[in-house]
Amino acid sequence: MHEFKYKNTQLYCENVLVGKLAKTFGTPLYVYSYHTLIGHYLKLKAAFSQINPLICYSVKANSNLSILKALITNGAGLDIVSGGELFRALKVGCPAKRIVYASVGKTEAEISTAIAKGILFFNVESLPELRSIDRIAGSLGKITRVAIRINPDVEVKTHKFITTGKITNKFGIDLNNAYKILLLRAKFKNVKICGLHIHIGSQITESAPFVSGIKKVSAFIKKLELKGIRLEYLNIGGGLGIIYDNETPQTAQVYADEIIPLLKSTGLKIIMEPGRFIAGNAGILITKVLYIKNTPKKKFIIVDAGMNDLIRPALYGAYHNILPLRKISKSEKADVVGPICESGDFLAKERMVANVKEGDYLAVMSTGAYGFSMSSNYNSRLRAAEVMVSEDKVQVIRKRETYADLIRNEFAK
Ligand SMILES: *Cc1c(COP(=O)(O)O)cnc(C)c1O
Repeated sequence: MHEFKYKNTQLYCENVLVGKLAKTFGTPLYVYSYHTLIGHYLKLKAAFSQINPLICYSVKANSNLSILKALITNGAGLDIVSGGELFRALKVGCPAKRIVYASVGKTEAEISTAIAKGILFFNVESLPELRSIDRIAGSLGKITRVAIRINPDVEVKTHKFITTGKITNKFGIDLNNAYKILLLRAKFKNVKICGLHIHIGSQITESAPFVSGIKKVSAFIKKLELKGIRLEYLNIGGGLGIIYDNETPQTAQVYADEIIPLLKSTGLKIIMEPGRFIAGNAGILITKVLYIKNTPKKKFIIVDAGMNDLIRPALYGAYHNILPLRKISKSEKADVVGPICESGDFLAKERMVANVKEGDYLAVMSTGAYGFSMSSNYNSRLRAAEVMVSEDKVQVIRKRETYADLIRNEFAK
């Protein structure tokens, strides 16, 4: 469900002609639909209304300040993974008590700022990290709260780079060690262990692995209760899959129906951390066709967006639908490639693509999550501009970079 639709033959974002945005702001250009973004957040909130969880949007999916602001204004909290994301969260006025912080490698500086700002809790990923948080909180004269991130060792069908809940992944703590830590919790004088966290991976299209992960932690919570250990929160992470191609992911409602009974039986307050589900289909990347190159074996459509703008095809072999801004009846098999000096610089391979000409525009669909936020300046390319559309209103939410931005922190010594 999204607000990028053809009216007659032209692609619109809400009430705005996308071709006009491309001409006004140039390309490559990220275009977001406000109502698609908020619509996904509200859909999840409605599906879970019985248990009223705190929905902490995962900042790394798309960390633009306007995206964050739109969500927190509608009641969301934020899931962060670095000091930079904490800075963004506070900058847009997210109440600290709606921020949860995960990462296997939090630094001393990051931990101490997060404690000083009073975030809801850290999701702790190892014993040494817990010791470190305890020591830093002590030196600040504070008691800080943590949830133990459990690695539930569940099998998830998704790209191997985005599974996080297998015991061979670097994330979380196995149940045996988590148990030992909880039994020894009195040793950590400046830390209150208030919950458990799981996040088993990303772009998960079926509920079974979520159910299996939650069942494992529920049983663990019961085991802790027998030892007199009462927790307050269960953070079930993110990972909900979306439609890129012909996936049939569980809807928010199906997901909710399957897990709400399990969550209720824990008696804990629930936190969730969706990223892709909220932002993924709320953004598209507009790119201009520079050249059509026919070689003896292939047709290449060379466009002005590259792997520095959208790395998902190169990194994960990810599929993004590619549509012309003006409908064209004929299509042909082609590779859609960027200008970067790497053979991995492609947006689509061996794909039936509309018969575009030089100067036409293409929309790379479902790029609202892990699009701009993973972009870089590789090949000294300027990072794209971003605009947000709400009905017929258009706002620039990030200017296109300039050459001055490119060298801002460098010296020619
Ligand atoms: C990345 C991440 C998320 C969000 O994942 P999505 O697949 O985008 O929903 C949630 N929690 C943690 C800890 C993460 O690292």
